[in-house]
Amino acid sequence: MLPSTKFVEPVERTLDSKFKFRCYKDISCFNKCCRHTDMLLTPYDILRMKKRLGISSKEFLEKYTYTQIDENSSHPFAVLKMMDDKEGKCTFVTPEGCSIYEDRPANCRYYPVGKGLMMKDSAKGPLPEEFYFFIREPNCLGYEEDKEWTIETWRIEQGVDLYDEMNKEWKEIQLRRDNPGQPKLDEKKQSLMYMASYDIDKFRRFILESKVLDIFDIDNEEREKIRTDEIALMKFGFKYLKYILMLEETLKIKEEYKKVEQPVD
Ligand code: SF4
Ligand code: SF4
Repeated sequence: MLPSTKFVEPVERTLDSKFKFRCYKDISCFNKCCRHTDMLLTPYDILRMKKRLGISSKEFLEKYTYTQIDENSSHPFAVLKMMDDKEGKCTFVTPEGCSIYEDRPANCRYYPVGKGLMMKDSAKGPLPEEFYFFIREPNCLGYEEDKEWTIETWRIEQGVDLYDEMNKEWKEIQLRRDNPGQPKLDEKKQSLMYMASYDIDKFRRFILESKVLDIFDIDNEEREKIRTDEIALMKFGFKYLKYILMLEETLKIKEEYKKVEQPVD
């Protein structure tokens, strides 16, 4: 979840950084963190949640999210909706806790730790580097407990490694597009980006029903995986985004299509 920045400790932490924290059902602040948050969702978050709920990506996006356009990059982001009342609770919170706990989004898993990504200079030039920080909201009494963690052990306990691995390429796209000099996206590219990032069922139809798989040189194994495996389709979406955003030539057009108009965006 994304707390107000005033509760974000302005100190960069590493995987070895220690903290004391415990969250459990009988703690007096139980569930207080699951309200009034602006939680940006990632492509893998949506795959997990829509599967858990047994609905399409379209239905998930319409029912549980709203879209926010980032002022700098002009990228569209899906944000988890909170209830539209005074309490502003997350739709998934129940008196027993999170009703989709095993499939909760990456930001919920990390909390009260936050994770950032920034370009840092290295011998090989600027490269993306992860950093961490603590979120210290006064509501959250977990810091008063005695169980000690490092950020690394917390990540393992919360099962966030898989989410990080799945979302890495997508987050790097966001970071690279944040660089000065990157053009703003027009509406057409914004909707392609939204579709490839979040609306996986629509993206599948788009890929299978257009000539995308014919035009680009994609080997048979990858082609088959794109057709049958949602994770492979999501990863192909990241490749496709890098290509249409002109960040990298991740896809190669077949010779026979080079002179023909390309229906790629
Ligand atoms: S998804 Fe679950 S853990 Fe995340 S804010 Fe909602 S109820 Fe809380
Ligand atoms: S300890 Fe913090 S994370 Fe746990 S329920 Fe309370 S407010 Fe939420």
